[in-house]
Amino acid sequence: MKIMQVRCWEDKASPISGVYITVYVTRPDMGQGHRLLMCMRCGKIYAVNIANELYSKKSVENTMAQYSCLQCQHTLAGCLVDYPACYWWEGGVYQHEIEDRCPPDSDSLLVEMPVIL
Ligand SMILES: [Zn+2]
Repeated sequence: MKIMQVRCWEDKASPISGVYITVYVTRPDMGQGHRLLMCMRCGKIYAVNIANELYSKKSVENTMAQYSCLQCQHTLAGCLVDYPACYWWEGGVYQHEIEDRCPPDSDSLLVEMPVIL
């Protein structure tokens, strides 16, 4: 699995009242960019290149069946959920409502993530 820099924006999620943690959102744009997935057993985040997913003959499902999670070693098949709609906090999976907003490019940052496809 390649490690690549993925353009992300920071968002705040609140698993319980009064607790805010940073999650990363991507902004897929015109078939470009990445979407993010998370291992629901350990919270490890993975990226999928949207153009590769659209145009490659491989599917994410088939590809991830070949991999084990880099963090918990569990097979990734059937183990990935959309991130940050689901995110990890204190050993559990929580749901985050993603705001439909367009943050400016200047707020973006590059985060190194393993890329599945
Ligand atoms: Zn894992």
